[in-house]
Amino acid sequence: MKAEGVDLLGTAVGHMKEKDFMGMDREWIQRETENFHVFYREADRDFAGALIERIEAFYQDICRRAYLEPEEDGYDLYVCGTVEEFLHGTGYAKEYYQDWMVGNADSVRRRLCILAPRGKGDLSQEYQEYLIKVMLHEVTHIVFNRICPGNRCGLWLSEGTAVCLAGQLDPEHASDRDYPRLAYLAGETDPVAFADKGGYTYGGIYVRYLMELLGMERFLSVYRGECRLEELLENSFESRAIAFCKELQVRG
Ligand SMILES: [Zn+2]
Repeated sequence: MKAEGVDLLGTAVGHMKEKDFMGMDREWIQRETENFHVFYREADRDFAGALIERIEAFYQDICRRAYLEPEEDGYDLYVCGTVEEFLHGTGYAKEYYQDWMVGNADSVRRRLCILAPRGKGDLSQEYQEYLIKVMLHEVTHIVFNRICPGNRCGLWLSEGTAVCLAGQLDPEHASDRDYPRLAYLAGETDPVAFADKGGYTYGGIYVRYLMELLGMERFLSVYRGECRLEELLENSFESRAIAFCKELQVRG
């Protein structure tokens, strides 16, 4: 989910200044992995630990699958304790914020934010696992943003790729009959409207099937805009994609 919010930081702020902005003098704890500087509060220690355990290996794997080397500069990752802190870190405007927005990647500022479980008052294992996948989704965005910056490749391709690679596919809740056509999703540029159209669920499914049909190398050339997708798709693409992903789910 990309930040389109107000740029509260201005444009010419340096790295340290941005950390000051998040109140680094207060009780942030910092832990380093090879490619991430992770900041969290004592109250979020367990969640931060579980996140750190997964994120580095995932990042390196996604880089490999995208035929990229990890970048030299790492990324800051903030585990925000409250919605207010999350808004602060992401630069989202309060009016823009939606309840489902719990993770964010900002490739320009090289910053990731996640709202900690206590931010929603849900400390269950299931919710923690859900949040970790949200963070893997955001990590996928920062890697694929190097292939096609911004959402130039289309929201459906960018979000679908992140959903798919982060393990967030949800074919069980996809309808065999009442699904959005790819062309309908592909025309959507507003993230909230995209979500309302089922863009995350179906975008993930369509991308997963596309990867299957094309293989990763050709999929990446679609992502770069080097080959036109229209010619690859037949009329029944969507229903075949849904059937394929449901079958994948059955096989586990
Ligand atoms: Zn996203």
